[in-house]
Amino acid sequence: MKNFINEDKIFNILEETETPSRQRVETIINKSLTLKGLSPEEAAVLLNCEEEVVLNRIFEAAKQIKETIYGNRLVLFAPLYLSNRCVNNCLYCGFRKDNLNTGTRLLDTNEIREETRALISQGHKRLLIVSAENPAANIDYLEKAIKTVYDTKEGNGDIRRVNINVAPMGVESFKRLKDTGIGTYQLFQETYHRDTYNQQHTSGPKSDYLKRLYACDLAQSAGIDDVGIGALFGLYNYKFEVLALLFHTMHLEEVFGVGPHTISVPRLEPAQGSNIASNPPYPVSDTDLKKVIAVLRLAVPYTGIILSTRENAVLRNELIYLGVSQISAGSKTLPGSYSNDKNEQGQFSVSDERSLSEVIEDMTDRGFIPSFCTSCYRTGRTGEDFMNLAKPGDIKNFCRPNALLTFEEYLLDYNPELAGKTKALIASEISKIPDQKVRQMTSDKMNSLSSGKRDLYF
Ligand code: SAM
Ligand code: SF4
Repeated sequence: MKNFINEDKIFNILEETETPSRQRVETIINKSLTLKGLSPEEAAVLLNCEEEVVLNRIFEAAKQIKETIYGNRLVLFAPLYLSNRCVNNCLYCGFRKDNLNTGTRLLDTNEIREETRALISQGHKRLLIVSAENPAANIDYLEKAIKTVYDTKEGNGDIRRVNINVAPMGVESFKRLKDTGIGTYQLFQETYHRDTYNQQHTSGPKSDYLKRLYACDLAQSAGIDDVGIGALFGLYNYKFEVLALLFHTMHLEEVFGVGPHTISVPRLEPAQGSNIASNPPYPVSDTDLKKVIAVLRLAVPYTGIILSTRENAVLRNELIYLGVSQISAGSKTLPGSYSNDKNEQGQFSVSDERSLSEVIEDMTDRGFIPSFCTSCYRTGRTGEDFMNLAKPGDIKNFCRPNALLTFEEYLLDYNPELAGKTKALIASEISKIPDQKVRQMTSDKMNSLSSGKRDLYF
């Protein structure tokens, strides 16, 4: 395994672009608006901009691209933590092996069912399964856990897409994971800077930098064609990490013909028993985080950007305009805490503590449409097929109607009080569907939902 993150090259790019001229910045912004993406060099020019007026230009462009490709939709999900028993020692994490403050748990089938029911009762349709790494949380366990989640029904609801963020595994296990019907396999490199990586991951299987770097390759080789990457911002220089994320994207494109389905941008949050989590070695300000998201939006316009509840509500409300396409809501990061409602600290402290319904009410007040859509992966629009539809803009024919249908289902089953308030927003969204036939079919399907049908999609 060769390290495809060339650190010297990244440092050189950052140095050569250190003081960009205003004209170069404008040229790059204009190029980004053609939705063709940016090279790492071009992204570096934008990352090196610090002046407020210039940053505002970049934010405006990100907003425009987000609107063109994703419209006003935001996909919602919640994490489901299965275990906090960990064999690794990531210095920033509350679950790490040497952190004796945390009692360890591994949910059994009944507990997973209870957690899933609690999440379905809030209105969730998409979950991200998360687990610490330990021998008991192996592929046999994960297979059973995912089956339990998919088999659980509560009222009219069920979980229709399970994404997963767990430790890397071998190709044979990845194949079994794919066969469970997962959507995206997600794994964060944490930091692409190798020395920093070694310092932060002192023992356990995760201390192997290259094994982690190649995990998405193995998942792809096993047939999982939606993979998600990310970096934990605060461990090292954010500009370096953004360029490394772009090189990782290029590597996956070269080898598999398709880049990552999503990029996550978690920022270090305080965690019990971790000094580093509360005192990040490379603090990332709110403005820096805005820049990170905006530059990623310009550089890889068709890759989803995921934002978690690590960020507070006020900042999240700003960031959703800049290119974020998926957000978690109502999250708990301690295994078992949705059904028990204990107020214990999980993996890290959550900053946006609003419930799913509060997040949705706030979003719709701002004109956003919440989407619980799971249609693409259930109809086989994944990996390269998804990108082939997304790039000419064809995906929009599916996304808007599907977002509306899933939002309507949410209103009918979980939040009828909000239905009156959002009637005009929904009507306006339906009127924006360009194809008359699709518009009519959407209205018909909405009527079918009102008369009791569920899970309708294009
Ligand atoms: N244990 C697996 C792993 O580390 O890849 C998967 C799940 S881990 C619980 C999910 C992610 O949480 C990690 O990849 C890391 O980026 C993030 N994380 C850990 N500690 C954090 C902290 N203090 N603040 C914010 N995110 C954190
Ligand atoms: Fe374990 Fe993941 Fe936490 Fe590291 S980040 S200690 S691997 S749960």
